[in-house]
Amino acid sequence: MSVERLLAVGAERPIDDVTAYALAGADVALEPLLAAAAARRDRRRPGRITFSPKAFLPLTNLCRDVCDYCSFRRSPKDAGAHTMSPDEVGRELDRARAQGCVEALFCLGDRPEAVFPSYRRQLAGWGLPSTVAYLRWACEQALARGLIPHTNAGVLDFDELHALRPVNASLGLMLESTSDRLCGKGQPHHRAPDKRPEVRVTMTARAGVLRIPFTSGILIGIGETARERVATLLAIRALHRRHGHVQEVIVQRFRPHPNTPMAAALAPDDVANARAIALARLILDDEVSVQAPPNLGAERPGGIELLLRAGVDDLGGISPVTPDFINPGHAWPHLSELGARLAASGFALTPRLPIHDAWRARPGFVAPGLAPHLDAAAARLGEAQAVAAAARAA
Ligand code: SF4
Repeated sequence: MSVERLLAVGAERPIDDVTAYALAGADVALEPLLAAAAARRDRRRPGRITFSPKAFLPLTNLCRDVCDYCSFRRSPKDAGAHTMSPDEVGRELDRARAQGCVEALFCLGDRPEAVFPSYRRQLAGWGLPSTVAYLRWACEQALARGLIPHTNAGVLDFDELHALRPVNASLGLMLESTSDRLCGKGQPHHRAPDKRPEVRVTMTARAGVLRIPFTSGILIGIGETARERVATLLAIRALHRRHGHVQEVIVQRFRPHPNTPMAAALAPDDVANARAIALARLILDDEVSVQAPPNLGAERPGGIELLLRAGVDDLGGISPVTPDFINPGHAWPHLSELGARLAASGFALTPRLPIHDAWRARPGFVAPGLAPHLDAAAARLGEAQAVAAAARAA
């Protein structure tokens, strides 16, 4: 079949594995690829791009792994090592609520208590036996303030996922890459046991068994090949088809950060990023959102518009109160400016909960006890939208 015909199929329905690998080639013309992906997006959700108004709470930046591109992680004696105290968590949550946030994103390093005795002592001093126990407490504090928790705490076992489910609308773990090669000596994941692909696939499947709405994602530009990128997207699709729980897939591009082993590595350019987004849209099932952060290069002139042309339908969490702790130096865009740029391309920027509407309506995916919190937060989003619409009309 010709590339034109393959793209015509992709504009209608998810492409098969052979087609996915065929369309990953650099010789496939960019514009028709983007047009097919945008057409697929528009079949499902014309004219609307969603985001989650969030506050980012980095509960701890201690992490037992070392990824060569990461500027977030610290060991306890490193400058900038920080674990939020319970008082600090409370203060940040109050600030987030006052600023109109709806999502409380808890994002932290992987299982620090496994390797750092001083961190274990710190938790014990607060009467907490583990990071997951601290997370449970923090999520309860968020819910008490009307904020909806979404947690990305790295790799969690079945019991830990089970413990966090009642207090989280959704959980996340980027699959990043299914390439074992990237875990080899000299590769970005060689000092990161939690980045072994089979470990992350297993956790994603466990979340599916527990019917937890889930965020996955791919990280592009860390040395993976185009075929490995496609293989990762196909693995996410297979997990979703087995369990029905992957509500969104982030396409995140590597950015070099100072003082990291990959500080001098080249970041993927805008075109490579757009190709990856388009492939994600063509591969994934219609109900799965394709998300790209609006602050990693897309803030440049034409950047957001290119994301739209590539088939993005969600911009993820955007915070009016906290910086992007994972990508310092890449500020979130102002919502009014972002809304205006989207409107100029024919899209309405629309706030959403951390659990997407389809999963909120799907039996078994909302933990007992969370529904009233979600109803109240959704009402708050609706009120905020009505106020914004009235302001625009005035
Ligand atoms: S990317 Fe995540 S797992 Fe890797 S070092 Fe940073 S915090 Fe740890």
